[in-house]
Amino acid sequence: MEEFKKIGVLTSGGDAPGMNAAIRAVVRAGIHAGFEVYGIRRGYMGMIEGDIIPLTSQAVSGIIQNGGTILQTARCKEFFTPEGRKTAYDQLVKFGIQAVIVIGGDGSFTGASIISREYDIPIIGIPGTIDNDLFGTDYTIGYDTALNTVVEAVDKIRDTASSHGRIFFVEVMGNEAGFVALRSGIACGAEGILIPEEKGQLDRLRKYLAERARQKKSSIIMVAEGEEEGGAMTIASIIKREYPELDIRTTILGHIQRGGSPTAFDRVSASRMGAAAIEALIDDQKSIMIGIVNSEIVHVPLNKTVKMHKDVNRDLLKLAEILV
Ligand code: ATP
Repeated sequence: MEEFKKIGVLTSGGDAPGMNAAIRAVVRAGIHAGFEVYGIRRGYMGMIEGDIIPLTSQAVSGIIQNGGTILQTARCKEFFTPEGRKTAYDQLVKFGIQAVIVIGGDGSFTGASIISREYDIPIIGIPGTIDNDLFGTDYTIGYDTALNTVVEAVDKIRDTASSHGRIFFVEVMGNEAGFVALRSGIACGAEGILIPEEKGQLDRLRKYLAERARQKKSSIIMVAEGEEEGGAMTIASIIKREYPELDIRTTILGHIQRGGSPTAFDRVSASRMGAAAIEALIDDQKSIMIGIVNSEIVHVPLNKTVKMHKDVNRDLLKLAEILV
């Protein structure tokens, strides 16, 4: 095993509830293993600018229940360039940081994989994104909390929808993936679910509206923002044109899905993955992502997780259709 002393941790890309629980686990498991742990603020931006602070066990106390990330996060254009990554590497050398734990999504892991290869730095990824769109793990940190936020909001929308006999198109996050729409749709008993992974859903929706909608007190149609027609507003206007007699409303849940106190599930997953990242470094692993598959910790090469596509669970899609 290479003798590490100093390691860094950062959060990058979109924030997700549970990132703080992961930072806390990295810091405490790291200190327990004999490392000095440094927080790199604002993702790769802070790496380039040398915005790096020592993290003690006390520095991460009282954060497990908080959404967002105490290290803050950013999207950093300079990191796309070899010059930007060279500056970032020089800063790591200056601070004596020999390995980095990156908490983020597939963009963050692409950057991590590149700098790890260019400068032979061990980098361990922890999947942190509400989208759940990372190959090699059943769940990403923040996904469960986002689902619960959506369910709570849609339950409220359902009250007003059924009082007025309305059809609500509810747009949830998921630019390229429909994980949030699919699972929250099932949990809310949605009458329709439109996601980027499934084509031709508008026709299915038309069929439903022609045959069933009038028998129902209300209808909730969950729409992932990246769905093929272009989101809930577009779908709602198409349907309104075709069925002018229907009482239609649209709600875009937006950034509310990113915030809030993480669920117990996200806190525990984040804690396990944070500690597993430290174990992976001790075991001399380089350039891997920690995942959870069938409740067990797994290691997936970073370049594989960014190259491979994770599909939605087709059984859940079928189930959603049966249960309408
Ligand atoms: P989310 O899934 O929540 O959007 P993400 O990690 O995918 O999170 P991105 O905005 O795609 O978020 O990426 C975060 C940062 O990672 C970018 O701003 C950039 O600094 C770095 N990054 C992304 N792709 C690359 C790349 N191809 N080369 C170098 N760095 C990259």
